[in-house]
Amino acid sequence: MKRIAVLGATGSIGQALEIVDAHPDLEVCALASGSNELDALAAARGVEHAQVGGELTALLERAEPDVVLNAVVGFAGLPATMWALERGITLALANKESLVAAGDLALAARERGGGLLLPVDSEHSALYQCLEGRAPETVQALVLTASGGPFRGRTRAELEAVTRADALAHPTWRMGPKITIDSATLANKGLELLEAHFLFAVPYERIEVVVHPSSVVHGLVRFRDGAAIAHLGHPDMRVPISFALTYPERSATEAEPLDLAAGLTLEFEPPDLETFPLLALARGAGESGGTHPCAYNAANEAAVQAFLAGRLPFLRIAEVVEETLATVDGAPASDLDELREADAEARRLAERAIGAVLT
Ligand code: NAD
Ligand code: MG
Repeated sequence: MKRIAVLGATGSIGQALEIVDAHPDLEVCALASGSNELDALAAARGVEHAQVGGELTALLERAEPDVVLNAVVGFAGLPATMWALERGITLALANKESLVAAGDLALAARERGGGLLLPVDSEHSALYQCLEGRAPETVQALVLTASGGPFRGRTRAELEAVTRADALAHPTWRMGPKITIDSATLANKGLELLEAHFLFAVPYERIEVVVHPSSVVHGLVRFRDGAAIAHLGHPDMRVPISFALTYPERSATEAEPLDLAAGLTLEFEPPDLETFPLLALARGAGESGGTHPCAYNAANEAAVQAFLAGRLPFLRIAEVVEETLATVDGAPASDLDELREADAEARRLAERAIGAVLT
């Protein structure tokens, strides 16, 4: 029996519970979320260790999982990520924000712990599978695909008055509100660029982003001999969730197979970096290094929260991140306290930039 702790169980990635239920060798040993709906979920399954809010690491200590599925949203997922990495407990990571923010500190913890870090983010799960068993020197570049979000093809002028409801209407994926807004601004692809760098140790100049509206190709790796290996499938999170939870077994899922004969066409286009500055800002933050990725994430979280609360216009999200990145010192964090301080400082600066709109 593999004991799975599902953190963020009431959210969109909570669909992992159905995968666990359907698999005879997997069981849920702990559930956590930020919402009271969790109580019903835990009671229905008779899960002993369940917790709404509070210290996730204390819950993990008690539950002794074999796998931590971290699907908490935002920087709040950091302690659970570090807990699993430090102890060498398999981490199935949906919470990309924690890896982006912690960066080298997370990688050092993984090194000490010696466990598996399996991405649940669909693009990174795809890249992981394309890279498995390849020698690093044969890899020329990673290609991340982006759906382009609900505003693909629009100009900046056309985005001035978009509402919360417009931004929440994602064309291909059904997800929680924060990542859906990140998909509309392309901050999600920015976070994923940073995530790919830390997961696969590939420099930023060798990670490409391409827009692919139907989200059928999830990731592609270019090799030095001219071959490109891609991972395809309908956009369905059950596939990467199942891959991570049943690794290395690759158990069966209910996902619908691609119908190639029905006339599958694949379209790609370059991202519009002018209309969606958050992608280029992520690349810049990554290249600057230190706690710049942490600040990018923190400012984006603050700005998205303000947008969702009706306190910030859509186009200001990117400006708030840009203004924050221009002001932070970005020095590397030598421990988690310094990292938390960098996160808090970026949030303070972002809040100041957000407030400046209203006054
Ligand atoms: P969501 O908003 O649907 O769910 C978030 C979950 O986290 C909820 O259960 C919420 O209660 C819980 N939570 C929030 N703050 C918490 C806290 N402080 N302590 C404990 N629990 C807390 O979000 P989601 O779409 O499921 O995304 C979760 C994470 O997975 C994000 O990092 C997102 O980027 C990543 N991700 C999601 C998808 C997807 O398809 N939904 C795909 C790739 C990556
Ligand atoms: Mg993704």
